[in-house]
Amino acid sequence: MNKLSRRQFIYGSAACLATAIVSHGFGPLRPDSCEAAVVNDIRGKVLKGDAPEKLWKWSHEGFLYKKIKNDKVICGICPNRCILAPGDRSVCRSRVNLDGKLYSLAYGNPCSVNTDPIEKKPLYHFKPHTKAFSLATTGCNFRCLNCQNWEISQARPHELGHHYELFPADVVDAAQKARARSIAYTYSEPSTFFEYMIDIARLAREAGLYNLWVSNAYINAEPLLALCKVLDSATLNIKAYHDGIYRKLNGGRLQPVLNTFKTLHEQGIHFEMINLVVPGYTDDEDMVKAMCGWILENIGPDHPLHFLRFFPSYKLDRLPPTPVSVLTRYRELAMQQGIHYVYVGNLPHHEGNNTYCHNCKELLIERKGYFIPTYNLVGNHCKFCDTRIPGVW
Ligand code: SF4
Repeated sequence: MNKLSRRQFIYGSAACLATAIVSHGFGPLRPDSCEAAVVNDIRGKVLKGDAPEKLWKWSHEGFLYKKIKNDKVICGICPNRCILAPGDRSVCRSRVNLDGKLYSLAYGNPCSVNTDPIEKKPLYHFKPHTKAFSLATTGCNFRCLNCQNWEISQARPHELGHHYELFPADVVDAAQKARARSIAYTYSEPSTFFEYMIDIARLAREAGLYNLWVSNAYINAEPLLALCKVLDSATLNIKAYHDGIYRKLNGGRLQPVLNTFKTLHEQGIHFEMINLVVPGYTDDEDMVKAMCGWILENIGPDHPLHFLRFFPSYKLDRLPPTPVSVLTRYRELAMQQGIHYVYVGNLPHHEGNNTYCHNCKELLIERKGYFIPTYNLVGNHCKFCDTRIPGVW
């Protein structure tokens, strides 16, 4: 979507004017300064010469990279396609070039490990009321201004004082001991620990556990298709339906995210979408309508969509939380447009936490926090009208 809404135009123009005043006093505006203010790309950069001198216990050669001249390498995992000279560290901070080879430094050393209710991911249409063994290493390919997990997502693997030692077989073992039905790759950006994730996922599948990917969906086609072979479900962010906002809020691009949605849909993998409504950035009704239009046209009405409430965090700690009325309105809009299952999140006691049959509108699943006091599905059908409810039940 290239057209700016009135709100975005005003926002961009105000930023442009402020930039011009700071840069040039009250002299004439330069077109390039306006463009910079509207786009303001915060994408991360390769850290030159920042790699450690040698590998450590938790290093693993990269799954997908190309060697080019002068011992440089190109990582093929995500659209950042980092080009690393020997001694360089990646945008995601957990991958380095040592002696002309690409290594992940985050293999087997997660920094966060928990057993969570699956509803926390959020996944509302996949094995409700089960436990997901959840883990993350440091690292992310985005730079979201509002990141809630920035202490781990923006850190280098060795910077955190605490971490676990869990190689893939240990993770499967720990998940089984915790009586989890699934393993969730989550909290930071799992694509950046791809080698670790896929090795765990292969063992997990053999052991009868499900694999859940909670991601910003910023990944290239080749690793995504490899992951799909062992993936059961995903929670995918759509940060905004606007490339300029992706650049200035998240440090990414929109199109690769949309490509991921289409691929997962074509592969028949259940996934749910989350859209965090950030005041002043993504609370634009026209943009929400356009996003829902794209969803309906490209992946149909059955993938659940969650509008999440923003709370002040990280570099956006002075913004107010999203007004409840805005979330209620977006949920109504999305359902009116034809998306079957639309939720609101980070907002207890709102009816948008519950699941209602898209055909007869009866209450199917009532949620109170992570508890489910009411459950009216029989197998994968509505108890009242026998309509098949999308998901894996
Ligand atoms: S996964 Fe990391 S190293 Fe690879 S391209 Fe993305 S940001 Fe760069």
